[in-house]
Amino acid sequence: MNFLITGAAGFLGSALANQLVREGHLVRGLDDLSTGDPQALSPDVHFTRGDVNDRPKLWTLLQDIDCVYHLAARVSVPESVLYPREYNAVNVGGTVSLMEAMRDVGVRRVVLVSSGAIYGDQAEQPLRETMPPNPRSPYAVSKLAAEYYVNTIGDLWNIETVCLRVFNAYGPGQHLPASHPPVIPYFLRQALRNGTLVVHGDGTQTRDYVYVDDVVSALIAASTAPGVDGLVINIGSGKETSVRDLVKAVLEVTGSKSEVIYNPKTGGGVSRMCADLTLAAARLGYRPSIPLGHGLRLTLQRDPRFK
Ligand code: NAD
Repeated sequence: MNFLITGAAGFLGSALANQLVREGHLVRGLDDLSTGDPQALSPDVHFTRGDVNDRPKLWTLLQDIDCVYHLAARVSVPESVLYPREYNAVNVGGTVSLMEAMRDVGVRRVVLVSSGAIYGDQAEQPLRETMPPNPRSPYAVSKLAAEYYVNTIGDLWNIETVCLRVFNAYGPGQHLPASHPPVIPYFLRQALRNGTLVVHGDGTQTRDYVYVDDVVSALIAASTAPGVDGLVINIGSGKETSVRDLVKAVLEVTGSKSEVIYNPKTGGGVSRMCADLTLAAARLGYRPSIPLGHGLRLTLQRDPRFK
């Protein structure tokens, strides 16, 4: 098959692109390199630097494409609290630009990588796709708006759409910015240096941490699965892990003696998150296979930054 991946040079995009070319597919990648790194991509990926709002570029890249994976986005919850306009322009505007270009060229299917963040705080766990969304940050609002646009326009224009609500993905190559880094690579780096691990909040907040290879297997299944048009589907590990337990696991796999300190909570956070995977199992045959401790060890082995 022929694929276009937006956000291809990012953490999830590059893992997906490299797996698809290993399986013999033609893969084009688009990324503006605002955070992505083209070195992460196999030389077999046809990479173009560009903005997801650049429609002439999209028209060219979409020729003969069977399925688009849309991952290009700004991805930090705390950053989105500071710059909501930018999150709206890229995450919502970029999605609409892509859909228009897909309509113009006549592409059949798009898989949108959405986020478990759209659930916000709910009365019950695990989180099911039928629960009313409760976004608590501009990032979550932008991902929910992207879902609505993709599903609504897709229905009107006969484009098949699948939205995968990915929970907290981690693994080698995850972007590690100086401000607001994702928690797992930040903890791993600090632990390996025996530096302090700073937890925002009391550490009882929970997340569903899913290893990148499991996410990639779900994404690949979504490109050809029958009967998924218009669906939103959770992708996680199905396990609820507190930040305190994550700290324990990180200290164990690294053998670190790091000190842990607890700071006040930052805005836009959610108390508990755990994905219900019933729909993913039924529609995509999805079964997460990599438990947290194993995934942390794989991350240490496979990411040269942790050598
Ligand atoms: P990432 O930052 O590594 O990847 C995003 C990529 O998009 C980057 O390479 C960046 O350069 C690119 N990009 C940003 N703005 C762009 C623009 N205007 N035009 C073209 N490219 C642009 O983050 P990631 O974790 O790989 O996330 C990929 C997707 O998965 C995002 O849509 C994100 O919302 C979603 N997601 C990620 C997670 C996770 O835990 N990593 C969870 C849920 C959803």
